Amino acid sequence: MTRRLLDRTIGTGLLMTVAVLSGVVFLERTTVAQNPGQQLISDAAAAMGGRDRIMAVKTLIVEGGGHDFQVDQEYAYDEIGSQFLVYQLRDYKRAYDLVNGRARFEQVREAQSTIFNGEAPQRTVQGLDGEIAFNVGANGNATRVFQEDGRRVEYLRHPLTLVRAGLDPTATLSNVRTQGTERLVDLKIGAILLTVAFDASTKLPARVVQLVDNAALGDRPNEMRWSDYRLVNGLQLPTLLTWKVGRWTAGQIRILRQTIDADVGNLAAPAAVASASRPPPPPPPPSTVREIAKGIWAAEGTTHKSFIVEMSDHLLLVDAPNVERTVAAFARAKDVRPNKPITKLIMGHNHGDHTGGIRAAVAMGVNEIFAHRNNLTLLDEIFTNPHTLNPDMYSKTNPKRPKITAIDDEGVIKDGMNTVNLYLLLESSHSNNQLLIYYANARMVTVADVYMPNDPRVMIAGEPFGHQPWIQNVLANLRYRKLQVDTLAPVHGDVEPFSRFMEEAIFLTAKPPDADR
Ligand SMILES: [Zn+2]
Repeated sequence: MTRRLLDRTIGTGLLMTVAVLSGVVFLERTTVAQNPGQQLISDAAAAMGGRDRIMAVKTLIVEGGGHDFQVDQEYAYDEIGSQFLVYQLRDYKRAYDLVNGRARFEQVREAQSTIFNGEAPQRTVQGLDGEIAFNVGANGNATRVFQEDGRRVEYLRHPLTLVRAGLDPTATLSNVRTQGTERLVDLKIGAILLTVAFDASTKLPARVVQLVDNAALGDRPNEMRWSDYRLVNGLQLPTLLTWKVGRWTAGQIRILRQTIDADVGNLAAPAAVASASRPPPPPPPPSTVREIAKGIWAAEGTTHKSFIVEMSDHLLLVDAPNVERTVAAFARAKDVRPNKPITKLIMGHNHGDHTGGIRAAVAMGVNEIFAHRNNLTLLDEIFTNPHTLNPDMYSKTNPKRPKITAIDDEGVIKDGMNTVNLYLLLESSHSNNQLLIYYANARMVTVADVYMPNDPRVMIAGEPFGHQPWIQNVLANLRYRKLQVDTLAPVHGDVEPFSRFMEEAIFLTAKPPDADR
């Protein structure tokens, strides 16, 4: 029947039927009628096993294992993505109580190579009970956390929970579109906005995407992709979960077992957790500045230091780890040299905890950035990507884009007051773009992450030196560059004489011979 004929038939019917009856007919039609977004959800529900089957599920348990790369924290921005921090995920188990909107997420995460000391396999247990998110410690005690929206999104990163949420009349579905072989719809649940993609031919849910804010890279898509669907108790469920941050794969889980309507136990938040109130915001960290060599200051306050170097008519900032530390470094620079603005920045390497303050630094006056050539794409994205979720200082002040001076194997920043030599840290498994920074007048070196003396995160109980997996590489680089070094001034940890660095390089993590006496 053609559309026109159908319209005519309905029209005729309405005209010829008594008012009450036509009202009933019309009501039925509007109840059944669906907007295109609802249609996508309905089709997905049908493909998965039917709306009734989906709504009848009381519990779901999925179990498996895989790996992740901790992209969220380490942010490798090159095209391959961060792989120096590979974690195995074991005993991955997610239990969902769909009737009550509760869940328990468990996994064991084990670093495949250790950076910090004490990286034993780490078991985490996360809970969600309606609007209440909580974590369960190794001692079994539960603590409320206030990232309930994030936990809720995690709950929704499964086709069964997501399609059920999409079928709920309170969900808002809009902006249906086609992209390649997928159909997409925006799904709004309370304050949470997600984009859901469906395979256009199978109709099955293919992935869900949430935009999240990143200080350096702005609005970033966080994606969970579902594939390898298998039939489980009358339901099509994915057995391969792949998540991505931006264009980088961040992890994968192979599901080995799925159980529907098994006993998941009581997933309710304990009473003490439910009544816990939001803790007050932490006090701002201290912000101090200390001259560590003539015309060189360490701006300190948290685990991340920046360094301020005095040049003839301006100051040079080394490392802009995050917005808060960068703002603090600018303030302290005014204390020590009120008449010299910070106008230059050395970007030490690409990782997220060393680049989060770059945009703020430019907003506050940096007009030139020195960085290794491998960071050119990253820097371009830092100044180009939209920051609509969280408009930052750079978005608001809209400064001129800084000049980028790319360093290949080496470079130098020099004027009448100071000389700073920059060298690519060669053969480093930490990153392929770290600059080894040498303050020639002071015979002092700055590196980040690859040497962290006395940083509590690398110390080993009962041993005088920390776990420094890259220290031999740093030493090899100092020798290769033929640098005369008196002092190490690393971004993390203490400023130390070269002699201490050498002792650590010799012993690595071993105990010195007299340590037990
Ligand atoms: Zn790093």
